[in-house]
Amino acid sequence: MIRINIEKKENKGVNLAEFMPSALRRMAILGAGESGVGAAILAKKKGFDVYVSDLSPIKDKYREMLDKYEIPYEEGRHTEEKILNADEVVKSPGIPDKAPIVVKLLTQNTPVISEIEFAGRYTNAKTICITGSNGKTTTTMLTYHILKNAGLNVGLAGNVGESFARQVAEQDYDYYVIELSSFQLDGMYDFRADIAVLLNITPDHLDRYNYEMRNYVDAKMRIIRNQTAADAFIFWNDDPVLQPRIADYKRQNETEQSPTLYPFSLTKSEDVKAYIENKQIVINTSKGNFNMEEELVALTGTHNLFNSMAAGIAAKLSGIRNEDIRRSLSDFKGVEHRLETVAKVRGVKYVNDSKATNVNSTWYALQSMKTPVVLILGGTDKGNDYSEIETLVKEKCRALIFLGVDNSKLHNFFDGKVSLTTDAHSMQEAISKAYDMAELGDTVLLSPCCASFDLFENYEDRGKQFKSCVRKL
Ligand code: ADP
Repeated sequence: MIRINIEKKENKGVNLAEFMPSALRRMAILGAGESGVGAAILAKKKGFDVYVSDLSPIKDKYREMLDKYEIPYEEGRHTEEKILNADEVVKSPGIPDKAPIVVKLLTQNTPVISEIEFAGRYTNAKTICITGSNGKTTTTMLTYHILKNAGLNVGLAGNVGESFARQVAEQDYDYYVIELSSFQLDGMYDFRADIAVLLNITPDHLDRYNYEMRNYVDAKMRIIRNQTAADAFIFWNDDPVLQPRIADYKRQNETEQSPTLYPFSLTKSEDVKAYIENKQIVINTSKGNFNMEEELVALTGTHNLFNSMAAGIAAKLSGIRNEDIRRSLSDFKGVEHRLETVAKVRGVKYVNDSKATNVNSTWYALQSMKTPVVLILGGTDKGNDYSEIETLVKEKCRALIFLGVDNSKLHNFFDGKVSLTTDAHSMQEAISKAYDMAELGDTVLLSPCCASFDLFENYEDRGKQFKSCVRKL
């Protein structure tokens, strides 16, 4: 077999590409969304015989890109003869391993990888990879904001913006800040993150992990796979789920070859490298120290202190000057649908936290509230345990508005615990009820704990409807 020289990131492991000239290699791509089309463009540019297949209709935007690069594709079906003969397959993160075509590929031992794994083979850029159950997008955007404002040549990739593969194919960045879901991590084998961030782990997506929390945690821990002594691992030191795993990791794996650990916490201790002291964020790294008054940080709430610490460590390790980190942490505008202040109407503040699709994120939203709250929650329940927010709801909520097709579980749990509960079956109804119930100085908070698919297209649609109804008040 001919061994060819491909542009490949050092120490990024072995892959099929090393052993076969690309013109002979057939690459099938399952799913023609942002990641699939990005991978297809990169594969085409690298000389693969590439074929894209999507069970659903392909969006016009992506069809145009495939046409532009003359990449063959199909939609509405998976033609087995064109997929099962691939040497390697890139699968979109949304497609589960249980999908029949994936089962067939795995049974015949065809490697199935993620777009991030594939793209990682073709860049020498430094990668800052961010995962966690909550806070990924915020921390990714914040880290990107700091690096970009400091003048680094940096790309934003993963679940946000353009796919990593498309940027590797079409751009030439020195750094990438990449948001990684557990589904993307599942398809990563030889990829190595220069800086890995694991924000927190709470139960989520368990349907994709045989309802076993351990499998979900394993997926998240893949973020540090292949890391070496030159790399860094940033994580929340006090996460109850992560703690035993980190202890295991230290016992079994920590050697001279392990990444440097950067645990962060609200409280100072010998173990942690970032913490809060005298109302200051303090960060200590091998590349110097950083501090900043907590109240100058633009994003509010304890969860955002964690996100800011994680982004601050990553920025410090990337060599950004302290004044640049301070400036960017204080002028970051936040991300749409995450504790986004929409308006103040007759002395009542309206906050859109539509992205809070699990109980833990609503807990942090409530915890950050400084006024009485009229809380709008509900939607598609993913097996929620509302006892997690019971104390905060009792302490902070004047009224609850249940916004969903079936609100019975919410009534069963909260009725009698909060004096005012009511139903709404559209956003307009919810806002009009909130308007009537809220008193001067209150906050009306949309932080639903639930997915949005019963009444809305997605969480963005839910958030946009919230904002548009508020603006019409
Ligand atoms: P993700 O991309 O992981 O879903 P986002 O940044 O989009 O995270 O935030 C999702 C929700 O979680 C928002 O409602 C936000 O207010 C809340 N959140 C953000 N950061 C954290 C964190 N570190 N811990 C818990 N909740 C958070």
